[in-house]
Amino acid sequence: MPDSISSNATPRELPGVNELIRLQELSDLGDSVPPKQLTNWARAAIESIRLRLLAGEAIRADDLNRLLVDRVRSSARDSCGETIRHVINATGVLLHTNLGRAPLAESVAKRIQSATAYCNVELNLETGRRSKRGASVAAALADLTGAEDAVVVNNCAAATILVLHAVAAGREVIISRGQLVEIGGGFRLPDVFHAAGVTLREVGTTNRTYLRDYENAITDKTGAIIRVHRGNFEQTGFVTQPSLKELLECDRSDEIPVIDDVGSGNLFDREELEVDEPDVRQSVSAGSDLVLFSGDKLFGGPQCGIVVGKKRWIDVLRKSPMMRAMRIDKITLAALQATVEIHLSGNVWEELPFLRMLARDSESLRGDCESLLSRLEKAIPPGRFSLSVVPCQSQIGGGSMPGVRLDSVALSISGEGLDDLAAKLRAGDPAIQPRLSDGQLLLDLRTVLPGEHTALVDQLSRALKETSNAGLDTGTDS
Ligand SMILES: *Cc1c(COP(=O)(O)O)cnc(C)c1O
Repeated sequence: MPDSISSNATPRELPGVNELIRLQELSDLGDSVPPKQLTNWARAAIESIRLRLLAGEAIRADDLNRLLVDRVRSSARDSCGETIRHVINATGVLLHTNLGRAPLAESVAKRIQSATAYCNVELNLETGRRSKRGASVAAALADLTGAEDAVVVNNCAAATILVLHAVAAGREVIISRGQLVEIGGGFRLPDVFHAAGVTLREVGTTNRTYLRDYENAITDKTGAIIRVHRGNFEQTGFVTQPSLKELLECDRSDEIPVIDDVGSGNLFDREELEVDEPDVRQSVSAGSDLVLFSGDKLFGGPQCGIVVGKKRWIDVLRKSPMMRAMRIDKITLAALQATVEIHLSGNVWEELPFLRMLARDSESLRGDCESLLSRLEKAIPPGRFSLSVVPCQSQIGGGSMPGVRLDSVALSISGEGLDDLAAKLRAGDPAIQPRLSDGQLLLDLRTVLPGEHTALVDQLSRALKETSNAGLDTGTDS
């Protein structure tokens, strides 16, 4: 009995911060992590164990160091796992929100580089005078979409708040109950309305809203009518919504703008791509007062929220104090400018990586996948995994075209220990994010960029070797 009591630790027995970080078990971290960070993790680890001891938890003195080391290591893993680095997207989801949505074009990356030092964000180099931030990109966006004017903020959610607030603060905004969506990341439209300082005026039902529902709701308190595209789900069956044209023609005064949140930024001609996403140009030409879309979805550019529309209403947005708080930085501005230039040049299918991926046919993907497999087979001995080329389906993602599936081809890896292999793939540099499905680890080649194939082979063979050697059944020494 005295034995077991004496082996329980007291807070006094906890090591000091310096003592902890000098432990042999943490020596590798000392080489790779800034000392200040390591000190903070060590301090937090000691504090958390101290609180557990003070709360009366019995922890054996012999276990203290192990617990502290584990804790510091877990902080290091969390931090390292979230430090931004290059990831090869093998998930087959083209606009993967967790992976930064649209990959940027080469010319866009170059333009970003040119803006990293000083650049003329608010200076006209012809006249030498001060210019308005974003004026030239706004003009280009207006050209591209046929709108009178444009403004750009940090993302489409910000654009929604800006527009609602600037146009209708303190008044009612009419929306169909069928469009009260959650846009993802827990953001729900009713909360967005609240944050923007407008009153939600819901009309219709989940599945059916008629034009007369809107018209009956218009009063002298009405500040705007908004239509929100249901980007991330589909509604079928007994459903109806008035068309945009009907909404625009409804009985309302000029002081009540129609706002069209199309979300995905579809600017394709029908012949180019048959997509069922609302078309930005059509919305503008139909007469929407303000049209909102994301820069990093179908538009294929950097994260931002683009608002195009009538000059009169865009001016209202420009004057809003919120605009100043939501304005984009020079890096995004440079990236957006270069992306808009690609759209204006008409070379979108050649230059935008997102569209190149979208356009690839599964035969050429199969060719890529077979050559990947043969390179891998040369690089590694047969281990405990079996590799094959399989058909699969890619998705657009990013809350765009939810029902669309694209035929694709993946390298399939099966065997014991796929979670372990996936962890090894994520730990590489570049990291690889695969898709786990039905007991297979799939690497969908549609979303792997052309320049990434060599790194993919290198990182895959490393991870396969490490995982095979770690297992009992290595199958490599026979
Ligand atoms: C994606 C989407 C948003 C949110 O856009 P972010 O740029 O991610 O903020 C808002 N509305 C609609 C209709 C969308 O599809």
